[in-house]
Amino acid sequence: MTVAHSQSYDSGLVERLLFRVARKWVAGYSSADAIEAALDANRRGMSAILNFLGEDTADEGQVGATVDEYLLLMGMMHDKNVQGCASVKPTQLGLAIDYEMCRQNFKKLAARARERGQFLWIDMESAKFTEDTITLYLELLKENPDVGIAVQAYLKRSGADLLHIIEHGGKVRLVKGAYHELEEHAFASGEDVDSNYLHLLKMLAGGDNFFAVATHDSKLIDEAIKLGGKCEFQLLMGIRDELKSQLVASKMTVAEYIPYGGQWLPYSVRRIRERKRNLLLLARSLIQQ
Ligand SMILES: Cc1cc2nc3c(=O)[nH]c(=O)nc-3n(C[C@H](O)[C@H](O)[C@H](O)COP(=O)(O)OP(=O)(O)OC[C@H]3O[C@@H](n4cnc5c(N)ncnc54)[C@H](O)[C@@H]3O)c2cc1C
Repeated sequence: MTVAHSQSYDSGLVERLLFRVARKWVAGYSSADAIEAALDANRRGMSAILNFLGEDTADEGQVGATVDEYLLLMGMMHDKNVQGCASVKPTQLGLAIDYEMCRQNFKKLAARARERGQFLWIDMESAKFTEDTITLYLELLKENPDVGIAVQAYLKRSGADLLHIIEHGGKVRLVKGAYHELEEHAFASGEDVDSNYLHLLKMLAGGDNFFAVATHDSKLIDEAIKLGGKCEFQLLMGIRDELKSQLVASKMTVAEYIPYGGQWLPYSVRRIRERKRNLLLLARSLIQQ
């Protein structure tokens, strides 16, 4: 009894300490927290891209609850006059269980987004889901032009994928990529990823389709500004806020990606891994408790 009690106390404490760090990148647990953060982004001159955290869902009930959460969120954004949209991970909507289930769920969200006059983004996850995610995206695009997809510059296949998506009139969010991938699929060095990002950026800027430059890398952002094209800049909540203000001040279109929800750990671990200094932030928070 005593042991069980102290174990649950310890895990609660660890969770609270970790959440203190994660709070930098995550709006909070509830949709109300997300709406508040979105309105704050709007006040700072940016639109908001809201993501209900969760991934690799293996449980159908959980998938259904996630669909309901996004439908509710879209309604709240509409009612509260939030400038922005949602961004959804395919495995939240069942891609790891069944393609058809995921497709039906995305169709539901895309239809609701359309009714509400909102855009809908599809996040890109690890390489085993790339092919299905692109197929699903191109299907959705036939019914709703206001849907976009993330493409990862670290994947060797992305040049061919981008060409295919552009040909179909698709809207792309260009990211470097956040997952651990095998060298068989992905460029291993930062230089190779950056040079592929620039290559893909030139392809996007050379076309007529709207696209998003989603990076915090000043060099690539400067290149994107020089290249021009119908684009917006997207940055994550809690990262490079000064750069966001500079872009807004220079009259660029900017969006802040704002995650929320109870499943904040895997997302926060990716943010910590991206930068050594974030590990120090974590250590400091643990020491200062
Ligand atoms: C709007 C948006 C949506 C995204 N969607 C997806 C997606 O669908 N799929 C996917 O795989 N990835 C996605 N990502 C994540 C992306 O793939 C990268 O992992 C992430 O953006 C870090 O890479 P970077 O482009 O900022 O470049 P880096 O080379 O990692 O960083 C450039 C500079 O930005 C700053 N910086 C970067 N990361 C951090 C951090 N965590 N903390 C503090 N400073 C930091 C530093 O100054 C760093 O020098 C998204 C990113 C953004 C901005």
